[in-house]
Amino acid sequence: MSRFLVPELAACQPYTPGEQPRDRRYIKLNTNESPYPPSPAVCRALEQAGAESLRLYPDPECRSLTEAAAAFYGLRPEQVMPGNGSDEVLFFALRAFCGREQGLAFADVTYGCYAVWCGLLGLVPRIVPLRPDFTLEPEDYFGLGQTRVIANPNAPTGLALTPAQVERILQEDPDHVLILDEAYVDFGAESCVPLIHRYKNLLVVQTFSKSRQLAGARLGLALGDPELIADLNRVKFSLNPYNINRLTLAAGCAALADREYFDRTRRAIIRTRTETAAALRRRGFALTDSCTNFLFASPPGGRARELCSALRDKGVLVRYFDAPRTARWMRITVGTPQEMEALLAAIDEIFAQEDGVCGK
Ligand SMILES: *Cc1c(COP(=O)(O)O)cnc(C)c1O
Repeated sequence: MSRFLVPELAACQPYTPGEQPRDRRYIKLNTNESPYPPSPAVCRALEQAGAESLRLYPDPECRSLTEAAAAFYGLRPEQVMPGNGSDEVLFFALRAFCGREQGLAFADVTYGCYAVWCGLLGLVPRIVPLRPDFTLEPEDYFGLGQTRVIANPNAPTGLALTPAQVERILQEDPDHVLILDEAYVDFGAESCVPLIHRYKNLLVVQTFSKSRQLAGARLGLALGDPELIADLNRVKFSLNPYNINRLTLAAGCAALADREYFDRTRRAIIRTRTETAAALRRRGFALTDSCTNFLFASPPGGRARELCSALRDKGVLVRYFDAPRTARWMRITVGTPQEMEALLAAIDEIFAQEDGVCGK
């Protein structure tokens, strides 16, 4: 840190992304990317868009993508704003809807970036603990009188609220925005996008990173009332009007158009998740009932940290969150069936070695 850095930023703790190591080939089950390639239609669209087109700025209004997304979700284009990853959309929303004094409310076990952005924006976080079984109780969000963000399904717990539960939170405080981060909704939860028509205080955020194989393209969407979307555009056009590049716009439109590939790949993930969950339970793991593309699992004896590190030595990366409530848990991205077999084989080897060491 230089002596020129402003003091507020010295105190702000940046996000630690899941590692992307380059020392050897790993089975990567640590950042919830899709194990499948983008749709062939996306690859064709990228070829057609062509590197030559990069000479020109992209469309600042992202009309092609906004219209395609509106059609996909049954919304009007004024109810949609694309962003450079859903991270950018979420950050714009915090900038637009959280006052300094009022801060932002979110769960104790949830997506780490919410706390990081509070640091960057100087917002006071209000932490609302999940229940002991990691479920989120809508009543816990009543009476807060401030903007709230809920990842639904939540990460890393994998658990989701129903739209009826979300509605109770929306109704209880119509004067503050509820940001619903639906990064994982395509893997088995019910989306709250239809509620947008009835609640002016609901902003739904989705991403192309998890269920549409485009984590590297950086693309997310804000979906909500036209007035909320206009507020987000005010932030966007005050920061970076050309926030989405031409190739990403083309890839996003093509991904939305190929509904068959979208459905096929997310179904494959759900099937593999069910099989892997059963295999882990047979090995003594505790698991939450995940409706995402990852499993939140606690190994026998709760020795998650040790297991994550032993798996890394065997070339399998999973995610460990070093916080008191998650110390006995690990997050495993659902990969291909072959990757899951390799994971289970590595776990079996590690357990067999441990038994040997303990003399059992
Ligand atoms: C992955 C993830 C995001 C960020 O997604 P990008 O679109 O890649 O920026 C946001 N929220 C949650 C809960 C996530 O897991």
